[in-house]
Amino acid sequence: MTRVGIYPGTFDPIHNGHLDLIRRASKLVDRLVIGVAINSGKGPMFTLEERVAILKDETAAFKNGAEIVVHPYAGLTLSAAREVGANVILRGLRAVADFEFEFQMTAMNQQLDREIETVFLMADPRHQALASRLIKEIATLGGDVSLFVPEGVKRRLVEKVTTR
Ligand code: ADP
Repeated sequence: MTRVGIYPGTFDPIHNGHLDLIRRASKLVDRLVIGVAINSGKGPMFTLEERVAILKDETAAFKNGAEIVVHPYAGLTLSAAREVGANVILRGLRAVADFEFEFQMTAMNQQLDREIETVFLMADPRHQALASRLIKEIATLGGDVSLFVPEGVKRRLVEKVTTR
């Protein structure tokens, strides 16, 4: 049986915490679908096409675990999971900040579909504080984000903030 997992998010843009999670999650499943939310309420800085391109670039070199597929989706994560044949939703959990929301969301999803489990991977302590929102803020204010994102993402962030 092929184990398929979906890792959903906005990925605006992807950072080292996300990449660490993808690396670890890809050891748990045969195919890992990175679900890129189209209609995220977060007003993304990068367009869907840009977010997808960045994800593909940054995960292209991951060869030791699952097959990695980047899949944009609109609507419910549960529907996207069914669409790609995933029975596991993978999420990252940073300290206490994510818990309340994730707890509620998972409880609701459980009611909607008992066949799909949500599995949480704790953020690596080195990446606990990383959040796309703060990385964008630092880049916008002219700070150096080299410690938080790969070189290619840093370049795109600098491009984005200097051409806006
Ligand atoms: P969302 O719009 O779902 O919050 P994000 O792109 O912010 O999307 O995050 C996608 C997933 O990655 C979520 O499960 C989130 O908890 C997880 N994540 C975010 N930051 C980190 C981090 N620093 N370490 C590990 N996981 C993280």
